[in-house]
Amino acid sequence: ASSATYRGVSILSSNTDRKTVLVTGGAGFVGSHTADALLTRGDSVVIIDEVNDYYDTSLKNENLEYLRATHGKDSFTFVKGDICDEALLEKIFSEHKIDYVCHLAARAGVRPSIEDPQVYVHSNIRGTTALLSAAAKHKVKNFVYASSSSVYGGSKSTYFSEDEAVDMPVSPYAATKKACELLAHTYSHLYNLPCTGLRFFTVFGERGRPDMAPFKFVDRISRGEGMQQFGDGSSSRDYTYISDIVDGVVRSIDRPYKYQVFNIGKGSGTTLKDFISIVEKYTGKKANKTILPDQPGDVPRTCASTEKATALLGYKAVVPFDEGIRQLVLWYNKKNGIANCHAVESVGHAFRSMRK
Ligand code: NAD
Repeated sequence: ASSATYRGVSILSSNTDRKTVLVTGGAGFVGSHTADALLTRGDSVVIIDEVNDYYDTSLKNENLEYLRATHGKDSFTFVKGDICDEALLEKIFSEHKIDYVCHLAARAGVRPSIEDPQVYVHSNIRGTTALLSAAAKHKVKNFVYASSSSVYGGSKSTYFSEDEAVDMPVSPYAATKKACELLAHTYSHLYNLPCTGLRFFTVFGERGRPDMAPFKFVDRISRGEGMQQFGDGSSSRDYTYISDIVDGVVRSIDRPYKYQVFNIGKGSGTTLKDFISIVEKYTGKKANKTILPDQPGDVPRTCASTEKATALLGYKAVVPFDEGIRQLVLWYNKKNGIANCHAVESVGHAFRSMRK
C-alpha cells in the first residue's frame, strides 16, 4: 500500500489493489467527498447520480466541478441517470468492470419523507434493489451502502448499538433505510454478495447539504436572518464531521464482510443549545431564534456506539465537533466572500495526526 493522504489523513492502510468503484450519489455531499478520497488514492471511479432537485442542483454540479478541478477533467466517469434504471446499470457494470459498489444515492431527509413517501420508496428501496441485483450478477467484491442512525427510531438506549433490534422506524425515510439493510442481508444470503451497511450519524462539513441544520445554522446566523429551533435546545445529536465519515466508508470498502452493519458516528452527542453557541462563536454573530415544538419523525437524541466499527474496521472519529464547525464556517465564508471573523485559518490541525 502506498501512503496517499486525503485532507491530511492517511487513507491507504489496506489498499493494495486499484479498485474500480461505482459511487452512487457521487454528486451529493457524502458521495462527492468519498469520490474525492478514492480518486486521491488512485482508484478508478464511476459516478452515477440523477442530480435531482431535492436541493439546489447547482450545488451538486459544483461538487462534480470540484472533483474535476482537483483530479482532472477526465479523472472519473460521470453518468447522469436513475439508479432504478436496470438497463443503464447493466451497461455501467459491464462496460466499466465495476468490482466495488459504494452506494450513497438516496432520497435523504426525514421531514420531507413524511410529505412524499413514494419518492423515498423509489430511490431508496427500488434503487437499492436494482443495484444489489446488478452487483450480484457481476459478482462485485464488496457492496457498501449508506444506512442511517434514523433506523434506531425512538430508542431509549444511551449509546445506539448495532446489536439492538431496530424494527420500529418513525419516518418513511427511516423505514426505507431499514429496508435497504434487509435487502442487503437477503442478497448476501442468496448470492454470497458481501454487503456492509453504514449507519451514518448526522454528517456535516464543507459542501454540506443545505437542508440540514449545520449548514442552515451557519447560513442563517451569518446572514443575521431569523432561524427556527425545534424544541427547547436540550435535544442532542451525534454530529459527525465529513472526513470521519469518509474514513469509515473507505475502511469499509477495503474490508469486505459477508454481511455487516456498522455505526459510523462520532460517539458523543452535542445539544442543540451548545451547537448554536459554537456557530455563534465562529461566525461572531448572535442567533435570532424562533423556538418551535419538536417535529414529528424527529428523534430526541442520537449517539453512536462505535465499538464495533473500531474493532472490525479500525474506525475512530477524530475531529472534535467544535473543529468541524470551524472548518464549515471557514468554507462558508470563502464561498460567500465573507471575511473570517472568529474562525481562523491557521490553527487546529492537530487532530489529524491522531488518526492511525
Ligand atoms: P445528498 O442528497 O447530498 O446525496 C444523495 C445523492 O443521490 C444526490 O446527489 C441525489 O441526486 C442522488 N440520488 C437520489 N436518488 C437518486 C436516484 N434514484 N438515482 C440516482 N441518483 C440519485 O445526501 P448525502 O447527505 O450525501 O447522503 C448520502 C447517503 O448517506 C444517503 O444514502 C443518505 O440517506 C445517507 N445518510 C446521510 C446522512 C447525513 O447526515 N448527510 C445521515 C445518515 C445517512
